[in-house]
Amino acid sequence: MSQSNTKRILLKISGEQLAGDFEGGIDPKTGLWLAQQLKLVFEHNIEIVIVVGGGNFARGSRLAGHGIKRVTADHIGMLGTMMNALALTDIFENNNLPTRCLSSIFAEQVAEPFIHRLANKHLEKGRIVIIAGGIGRPFLTTDTAAVSLALELNCQVVLKATKVNGIFDKDPEKYPEAVKINKMTFAQAVEDRNIKVMDKAALGLAMEYKLPIIVLDAMKDRSLYKTIVTESIEGTIVS
Ligand code: UDP
Repeated sequence: MSQSNTKRILLKISGEQLAGDFEGGIDPKTGLWLAQQLKLVFEHNIEIVIVVGGGNFARGSRLAGHGIKRVTADHIGMLGTMMNALALTDIFENNNLPTRCLSSIFAEQVAEPFIHRLANKHLEKGRIVIIAGGIGRPFLTTDTAAVSLALELNCQVVLKATKVNGIFDKDPEKYPEAVKINKMTFAQAVEDRNIKVMDKAALGLAMEYKLPIIVLDAMKDRSLYKTIVTESIEGTIVS
């Protein structure tokens, strides 16, 4: 929790979601929709940290090989997250949401550096903080970065945005009979091999520090508002 007792949340949004209707890259319409959804939350004095993925540009695990080292591939992946973070920052500001982009990789020409105190200062001043570059180290994904950064910034919850509204017993896009699970324990989420909605490393870290995770469809109208402001949780809570 931040010092003023204000609610502080972290939203993890994947690159795939930012691509919207496109196969890759950024669909500005998706960014605009997200800004409108977040405005409903922001107006209630909720402090918002956003960690963006980069899968719409590159993922280290897929890019590595044929001469590209894994470390380099992860660097490229982190640069992908930077492109998303910069685009979202502009879209948010253009929609009257005060926003700062902080980068975990050195990129002073394009973003402020991620510094713990600076991030806190922006949040306390009522600015949304978008973090680019995950936590700036290879062999990690932005899911794990999201949990690590939520712990570092005292966020009360991590909202992991997915295309479907929560965790299902099987892939709902393949199996229409899939059943949504409203609540589950960390142990269940970590152990169940069918649950691929979030990296196991991220779940393990959240479990160790008892940081709840809510998996939801952030693009569904008012889903973020209901979950964060009225606390009627859409999606699945892992705690
Ligand atoms: N990445 C990394 N360290 C981090 C965060 C991300 O090396 O702290 C790299 C990694 O290669 C990852 C890529 O950046 O695959 C893009 O992030 P991610 O795959 O999590 O994006 P998403 O699937 O959420 O769009």
